[in-house]
Amino acid sequence: MVELRSVHKSFGSLEVLRGVDLRVAAGEVTVILGPSGSGKSTLLRTVNHLEKVDSGSVSVDGELVGYRRSGDKLYELPEREILRQRTKIGFVFQNFNLFPHLTVRQNVTEAPRSAQRRPKTEVDALATRLLERVGLSDKAHSYPRKLSGGQQQRVAIARALALEPKVILFDEPTSALDPELVGEVLDVVKGLAGSGTTMIVVTHEVGFAREVADTVVFMDEGRIVERGTPAEVLDAPRHERTRLFLSKVL
Ligand code: ATP
Ligand code: MG
Repeated sequence: MVELRSVHKSFGSLEVLRGVDLRVAAGEVTVILGPSGSGKSTLLRTVNHLEKVDSGSVSVDGELVGYRRSGDKLYELPEREILRQRTKIGFVFQNFNLFPHLTVRQNVTEAPRSAQRRPKTEVDALATRLLERVGLSDKAHSYPRKLSGGQQQRVAIARALALEPKVILFDEPTSALDPELVGEVLDVVKGLAGSGTTMIVVTHEVGFAREVADTVVFMDEGRIVERGTPAEVLDAPRHERTRLFLSKVL
């Protein structure tokens, strides 16, 4: 479903991704762990072309992201094609990034209406279902500023789901939340995992990784150091750097 091949990315002289290969099959949950600055967010952002790769390739659902191949050359896609590709790739950010001037319901319906031009009645019914799924039916007409962080993040998840994406990327979805609100958001993400949503989740929540990940990936300094099942990576890490990291977050 998602495939990164030898992805390299630098910012100026700083090489942030140093040849990352990653495959996430349909229905699978991959959790990415790693220290601050190791390139986790940059990696996620290459998946929907928020960051352009310097070399290597990213594909989602069998389609090259951001580029079209012609012979052995790559040409960047026009903006509207990139926007179309992004509708297949949900993104949930650390800081929710809801539209402050729209209600909860409007936040959920905005993209299916404007990017997918789906009919209003259909999208309204979808929003009703999604808000129920994240436990926020009673907040449909509230504005984001009136919600707790946990509620805002659940709206952001409903909004991502509204495009019926092939994969959802989560970048530390709970790290901006007060501790008592983390559980309600992780429960929603666990529910998605249980229903077969393909996901890549960057998080420091090791308990969550243990419970829902099919694959755990440990990154350091722009490389994948270690990958495997939660039992392999979390309980019997083979690399010293993984052990050191886990000893700090556990
Ligand atoms: P954290 O756990 O703190 O979120 P991370 O693993 O997500 O860290 P990234 O955000 O991917 O790390 O950043 C990796 C490195 O790239 C960092 O050194 C960061 O300062 C740098 N970096 C990220 N984005 C940019 C940018 N747009 N311009 C310049 N440097 C950047
Ligand atoms: Mg990050």
